[in-house]
Amino acid sequence: MSRKADEIMAADTLKDAKKLQASFISTEPFQESSKEKEKEKDNNKLFHIHERNVSDEISERTFQDVSLCYQCGKCSAGCPVRYYMDIAPNKVVRFIQLGYYEEALKSETPWLCAGCLACSVRCPKEFDLAKFMDAVREIAIEKGVEIKQENILKFHKAFLDQIKNHGRSYEVGLVAEYKMKTLDLFQDVDSAPGMFLKGKLDLLPHNIKNRKEIKSIFKKTSGKK
Ligand code: SF4
Ligand code: SF4
Repeated sequence: MSRKADEIMAADTLKDAKKLQASFISTEPFQESSKEKEKEKDNNKLFHIHERNVSDEISERTFQDVSLCYQCGKCSAGCPVRYYMDIAPNKVVRFIQLGYYEEALKSETPWLCAGCLACSVRCPKEFDLAKFMDAVREIAIEKGVEIKQENILKFHKAFLDQIKNHGRSYEVGLVAEYKMKTLDLFQDVDSAPGMFLKGKLDLLPHNIKNRKEIKSIFKKTSGKK
């Protein structure tokens, strides 16, 4: 085969590879010059915890190896809130695998994750992606990463406060606390009467028996929040 034909074939292969990878991660980061790599390394310095990388940190918190994920995309295909996310859930894993911590930690995706576990039960590698998202959120908070939609963080805090105080979710308390934090008093207010009439909103909380244990869990883990 002539040299020209070889070059054409190589160009086509690269084009096809890029097309195939378009829905996952671009091949481009692998082709960066060493100068660009150094720049990227500097940018990511902020995202290293105690000299360890974020991938190890996540593995330690979730008791699973981040490299388990082989990017089949089944999780993202079944995610009910994928449409609203800036990057697909499997891409967040890929960014962490490749050391692109900034992209992963600054993404809105972990904050929009509803923790429904659909991805975790679908994963052929039994990688618990919902748990992974929890760890990404924790690390983002600890590192002071700016959350693009700050109301999401307020919602998370309001939700966790209900669990801490009542041992389970208490919707009225959640809504009240969230509205106090955001001062967005009228958002979704028209859906409240319908929910109340259908028994979806209890005026009083149903506390669990041993709330002390729940509070002690929050106390023990508060250093990581
Ligand atoms: S389903 Fe599992 S292996 Fe496949 S991309 Fe998602 S996390 Fe990775
Ligand atoms: S746990 Fe999060 S990432 Fe997984 S399917 Fe549910 S919403 Fe999507």
